Amino acid sequence: MAARREQTDVLVIGGGTAGFGAAIAAARHGLRVTLLEATTKIGGVMAYCPGMPWGGAYPMDAIVGGLIEELTNRLAVMDPPAAEKRPCTLQHFGPEIIYDHDVAMLTMFDMLEEAGVHVRLGAIALEPALTGNAITSVDCCDRNGPFRIEAKMVIDCSGDGDISAKAGVPFSVGDASGNMMAVTISFFMIGVDWDRAFAEPDPYFQQYAKTGVAEGRLHKDLAKLYLMRGFHEGTVFCNSVHVRGVDGTDPVAVGAATQEGRRRCHQLATFLRSDVPGFNKAHMSMLSPTVGVRETRKLQGIYRLTGDDLARATKFPDGIVACDNPIDDVMRAEGDMTHDAAIEAGQFYTIPFRSLVPERITNLMFAGRILSADPVAFASVRGMPQCMTMGQATGTAAALALRDGLSVQDVPRDALVQSLANQGVNRLAVPVTQRPDQAGSGVDPVPVSFC
Ligand SMILES: Cc1cc2nc3c(=O)[nH]c(=O)nc-3n(C[C@H](O)[C@H](O)[C@H](O)COP(=O)(O)OP(=O)(O)OC[C@H]3O[C@@H](n4cnc5c(N)ncnc54)[C@H](O)[C@@H]3O)c2cc1C
Repeated sequence: MAARREQTDVLVIGGGTAGFGAAIAAARHGLRVTLLEATTKIGGVMAYCPGMPWGGAYPMDAIVGGLIEELTNRLAVMDPPAAEKRPCTLQHFGPEIIYDHDVAMLTMFDMLEEAGVHVRLGAIALEPALTGNAITSVDCCDRNGPFRIEAKMVIDCSGDGDISAKAGVPFSVGDASGNMMAVTISFFMIGVDWDRAFAEPDPYFQQYAKTGVAEGRLHKDLAKLYLMRGFHEGTVFCNSVHVRGVDGTDPVAVGAATQEGRRRCHQLATFLRSDVPGFNKAHMSMLSPTVGVRETRKLQGIYRLTGDDLARATKFPDGIVACDNPIDDVMRAEGDMTHDAAIEAGQFYTIPFRSLVPERITNLMFAGRILSADPVAFASVRGMPQCMTMGQATGTAAALALRDGLSVQDVPRDALVQSLANQGVNRLAVPVTQRPDQAGSGVDPVPVSFC
């Protein structure tokens, strides 16, 4: 039994991009918010793979809006600018945001502080306690031992959904056979001659990689090299080293995959220097502290988003964020890395709030990569801008629920969508006349298909 106790209105578990969005949105609505993060840094995958672009931020070339737009603008107006929009070099991806990782991290902590969020780093949520269909408290621990947080509302943004699963929310793992996407360890090459390195059109450097693999100097899963310009001149972000078949909820497996990944990164850095033009004077830096995990549990919500919804470019009445990312599937079992288009060019779909709400528990929501989605939809929805906005939606929904004493299942969806639109989230199913912030923005009203 935990001797230390804390009370809060909203407990956000996990400080990745989803948790960041959830905590700020709830705190800006006047709620007491505790953000619990197991590591010493917020960002989640963004912190594990530092420098990774915010992908798919511009469905149909209009920014997703809301917190990701606010964060980007804060960085972009700095002197010198710390973020910019650019085209993505990968097939079927729209424009992305590239940024200075350290300045972005500082700014995200600033935004949490300004919103009054109680950020608790180095603390892990272990076990929920329920009375009936409501979570009453969550047992946690930090280096000083166990403590208990009593919360009116819990938002699970942990990427893996341990607490939701322990609270009884059904879930699935990976694809229909349980195969999860590969995990990835990233690094930078510093001191690259960009003009020489990116002189050829192939974004995957396959001609070079082929030689490396054939001669046994590169692992066979390095047939395509995902190398892209970093934010700073002469830096190259290397998002190429994937380790298959790792259960991201098993810390021992994650540790072993990280060490295997480090070996392959070192091998790749050596190869780049010796074989690829422009890299001969470069060195490896910012190696991930741990592998980035793409996929573990997908929780069961009131609505499960499907690949068919994406293909039909469905705009849900309770859609809370727009997306046009491709089906970004990464080496499940023996599969390849593919980026097939999810929808026709020039179309987008929205992610419904109901995919963030469990069927039974009345004061729990989830956001980010644990949302309720089938494996095809999951491969598209999981970009950081979308995760941050899912978080923003749940933080806002928490405020609506607590204000009116409602269960999360009863949050009025039109009021939620309206509130998000007022917070600047674009392309939601609200009449454009109700969008004072969008006058003259060029963002079109959304035709809604009811599902
Ligand atoms: C290798 C890789 C490359 C990617 N490339 C891109 C890209 O280029 N662009 C893009 O936009 N997206 C990319 N993605 C997808 C995107 O990064 C993720 O889908 C997104 O960051 C997930 O955010 P999240 O907040 O849901 O979860 P996470 O980022 O996983 O964050 C979860 C957080 O919860 C914490 N946590 C977990 N359990 C607990 C607990 N019990 N108690 C306390 N804290 C806990 C974790 O420490 C972590 O900080 C990539 C993902 C990976 C893995």
